[in-house]
Amino acid sequence: MTRLASLALSMLVTAPALAASPGDMSAPDQWQPHAKVGILDNVTLRVHWHESLKLLREAATAQNVDAIDLHGFSVLHRDAETGEWVCDLFVVRMRGALVDNDRTMTFGHEALHCFGFRHE
Ligand SMILES: [Zn+2]
Repeated sequence: MTRLASLALSMLVTAPALAASPGDMSAPDQWQPHAKVGILDNVTLRVHWHESLKLLREAATAQNVDAIDLHGFSVLHRDAETGEWVCDLFVVRMRGALVDNDRTMTFGHEALHCFGFRHE
């Protein structure tokens, strides 16, 4: 069973006090901007929490996403009516700590994909 949470995110990277730019949208090392989308500065993020890795992988398979070695995935699309970018982020619920190592890391990785970042 999944629970859906929606929140709007802005990618705002803090810059040194003397820099006048609103944020540094350059890609982190090893990441490239999506060839067609580029880097987005505003995305509606919908988080689909799964209770186990098994359930997450079943959800991936149902959406034709390769579930082998999968720990999380995201699907970025543009709302046809509003034109806004929406990202569905599928992860296993974090437990027991504010930073739940692998699960928190996976959440961050998939959030980068939601802003248009890609990797090999
Ligand atoms: Zn990735």
